[in-house]
Amino acid sequence: MNEYDSGRLADFAKEKGYTQTDKLDDIDCYVLNTCHIREKATEKVYSDIGRIKKNFKDKKKPLILVTGCVAQAENELMLKREPYIDAVIGPQSYHNFEKILHDLENKRKKINSTDFDVIEKFDKLNVIKNHTSKVSTFVTIQEGCDKFCNFCVVPYTRGSECSRSPKDIIQEVQNLVLNGAKEVTLLGQNVNAYNYILNNKNYKLSDLIIELNKIKKLYRIRYTTSHPKDMTTDLIDCYKFIKKLMPQLHLPVQSGSNSILKGMNRKHTRQDYLNIIYRLKQINPEIKFSSDFIVGYPGETERDFEETMSLVKKINFINSYSFIYSPRPGTPAANFKPVDKEIQKKRLISLQNLLEKIQKNKNQKEIGKFKEILVENKMKNQNQYFGRMSDSTPVIFKGGKKEDIGKLIFVEIEKTNRSSLFGVKKDKTENEVAA
Ligand code: SAH
Ligand code: SF4
Repeated sequence: MNEYDSGRLADFAKEKGYTQTDKLDDIDCYVLNTCHIREKATEKVYSDIGRIKKNFKDKKKPLILVTGCVAQAENELMLKREPYIDAVIGPQSYHNFEKILHDLENKRKKINSTDFDVIEKFDKLNVIKNHTSKVSTFVTIQEGCDKFCNFCVVPYTRGSECSRSPKDIIQEVQNLVLNGAKEVTLLGQNVNAYNYILNNKNYKLSDLIIELNKIKKLYRIRYTTSHPKDMTTDLIDCYKFIKKLMPQLHLPVQSGSNSILKGMNRKHTRQDYLNIIYRLKQINPEIKFSSDFIVGYPGETERDFEETMSLVKKINFINSYSFIYSPRPGTPAANFKPVDKEIQKKRLISLQNLLEKIQKNKNQKEIGKFKEILVENKMKNQNQYFGRMSDSTPVIFKGGKKEDIGKLIFVEIEKTNRSSLFGVKKDKTENEVAA
């Protein structure tokens, strides 16, 4: 979502005459778009500013704007802790971005813009054309969260659940497709909680997917991140008949232990989660699952952790994320008794080793196969191209040409490393490959 937001902020800045650059000497305005989900991310903002300060010691001070959830959560505190910052702008105030830039250019008075106003934000963002010409692109359809997991800051920083009008989303995707997009990933903190009432009809994520499926030159549809509680039958059924919906689902489970899930206030059990996986596998046995895990959550015993490990073995997750629990100020779990740090680290290593082993096995099995790839771009400084399989696995291949970008082609997989596959383009049609 931050990547998508950064793109829209760059669009706003462009309207004010700014251009993006990586030439240090040219920079007169920095926008640091931040994440507050774990503590490390917050500290990174301050160390980045420290580095900028050093670089600009003998030069004119650039404008420093901190955007995103750290700005939202810390607002006034940030302006006090780091006087080098000129403005803090929360995710719900991005529609004010141009005006803030204008005011800073003219007055250089510190600005704190962290009010909540989601509807207005979506309205304003719709006016801005999404300029990206990427083959695979993001579109935000939903923001915020009403679930209040005990460990998470999102409901406080991104506000309550709010969905964008289907008309605006379809329009944006159509524009992106005209610009060359072939794959769209619909974004939201709880993307499958998408719900919008238009002309007395309740639009859900499944309705949106059905509409987007009709866009001719769009080849692939994905969505992230989903919550197990909102994996409704209508959405599961989409996997039966929507060919463009990719056979891959990122569905965070956090823990395999019911007592930890309860302590997290996740509102689903291990069995609920397994049922969803089972129903989807019944529809398509090839569908792949990825997840997020938190280890060392307050109260997690060795047995709880083993339940997470057994769930991972059962589902064979690919491309997953795992984190040590990070207490976030203002959340209920921040007051719970912590698990010993060394134990947390040990468990994270065990889990990551297991996830890596499963990933490696899966990648090994792809060697020698012909895989359909959507070609995204040429690799920098190399004569190789980059694309993804339907389950999102990155593939780097030889034998490609510029005209392949944006096309579905076949690659024979030759080798693999930890996360990517490597191969060579094969000029075969799908029928020939199937034969
Ligand atoms: N809405 C999604 C997740 C959004 S946050 C869901 O409910 O699944 C992205 C991920 O960050 C979470 O899935 C979780 O694994 C991780 N995360 C959130 N808060 C965390 C914390 N306090 N410590 C460690 N990881 C955290
Ligand atoms: Fe955070 Fe996701 Fe839980 Fe919402 S559902 S509180 S975003 S982890």
